[in-house]
Amino acid sequence: MRYLILSDIHSNLEALEKSLKLAEGQYDQVLCLGDLVGYGPDPNAVISRIRPLAGAIVRGNHDKACCGLMGAGDFNFLARAATDWTRARLTPEHIEFLRGLPSGPVQIDGVELVHGSPVDEDEYIFDSLEAAQAFRVAGAPLVFFGHSHRQGGFLLTADKRLQPIPLAAIKDDGSASLALQQGVRYLINPGSIGQPRDGDWRAAFAILDRDRNRVDFYRTPYGLAATQEKMRKEGLPGPLIARLEAGR
Ligand code: ZN
Repeated sequence: MRYLILSDIHSNLEALEKSLKLAEGQYDQVLCLGDLVGYGPDPNAVISRIRPLAGAIVRGNHDKACCGLMGAGDFNFLARAATDWTRARLTPEHIEFLRGLPSGPVQIDGVELVHGSPVDEDEYIFDSLEAAQAFRVAGAPLVFFGHSHRQGGFLLTADKRLQPIPLAAIKDDGSASLALQQGVRYLINPGSIGQPRDGDWRAAFAILDRDRNRVDFYRTPYGLAATQEKMRKEGLPGPLIARLEAGR
C-alpha cells in the first residue's frame, strides 16, 4: 500500500493540483494531516477536491478556527483576517464537513497521523526537545505530523539517539528517499502543500510505501502567480501573499 501524505494545504488549489498531478499513479490512497483551509483563496475548491480522495483526514487549527469550533484569538492579525475571510465564504456543507473532522492522533495501517504533535493536536514540533516529548507519547513507531510547514522531521534510533531526518536536496519535481529501518522510530513531516515555511516556496509532500518501507519526499514548483493574483483580488493581506514566494 502506498500513501500520498498531504499537509497544510491552506486553500491553495494551484499547489494542490500540481502536487496531485506529480504524484499521479504513485499512490493508492491519500492521507491528510489537516489545515485544508486558512490563508489561501480557494477554501471550497480545496475541500471539494480532497474530500473524495482522502482515506483519512485529521483536523488542523485553521480548520477548527474557520468552522467556528475554536476562536481565532490566538492567531496573529493576518491569520485572523484570513480566517474571517474564509469563514464568510465556506459553504454551509463545507463548514459541517470541517466540524466533523477528527482530532489527531488517528491510526491507520499501523501509522499515526497528527496535525501538530502526538502530545496535542495544536502543539508544534520544531526542535529536538519537542520531538523527544512527542516520541514519549507516540502511539506508533511511525508518526506523520504537519503544522510547522517544514519538510523533514526526526528519528529515534534503537539506542535512543534522537536526530533530524537527513534529507538530500530535492530537484524540481524530484524526490529524496528515506529508507525506514527496523527498530528506529520516526516523526515525519511531509512539508506543506500550500504555504511552505522552510525557505523553499515549492509545494511539498511525501509518499509512504508500506511494502518497500520507504518514504519519498517531493518538491514541486506550481503556478504561484495565479494564487497570488487571486489573493490580491480577494483583498487578502499583502504579507500572506508575499510569504508564499519567500517560503517563510
Ligand atoms: Zn498550517
